[in-house]
Amino acid sequence: MKCPFCDCPETKVIDSRESDDLDSVRRRRECENTNCAKRFTTYEHFELSINIIKKDGSSEPFDREKILKGVRMSCHKLPVSLESLNELVNDIERELLDEGLTEVPTSKIGDMIMKRLKALNKVAFIRFASVYQEFESVDEFKNEILKLETRKKKVG
Ligand SMILES: [Zn+2]
Repeated sequence: MKCPFCDCPETKVIDSRESDDLDSVRRRRECENTNCAKRFTTYEHFELSINIIKKDGSSEPFDREKILKGVRMSCHKLPVSLESLNELVNDIERELLDEGLTEVPTSKIGDMIMKRLKALNKVAFIRFASVYQEFESVDEFKNEILKLETRKKKVG
């Protein structure tokens, strides 16, 4: 986030809270340029303009629904509420916002998901990790889980 006073690209968050309508975050920031050091408030919406860079070099816009679907797959039939999964994705969005990046490799998103799933549900984490690590995108992961589910149904 650029400083609006001096255009310095380095600013730090000194306070962060969700606004009353819950779809934006109010942040107090301080410019890290010592000659400026001005403070300002931003209202940041959870709409990330971040590109996800795939292993083959192609990119696609960050899509929270896609991530949520992948995570939901790994929690299939586990006692994990949709609310906590939404919160997990919110948390990832917040972290990405805080880092102020415009491009993120899929592997980083995968790591961020795994870190949080591990804390949420161990089985979901193992499912996600064992499948995801073989694939380069949440999409591929999703397809593979679907295949597994179909296979199981056929056997049973
Ligand atoms: Zn400044």
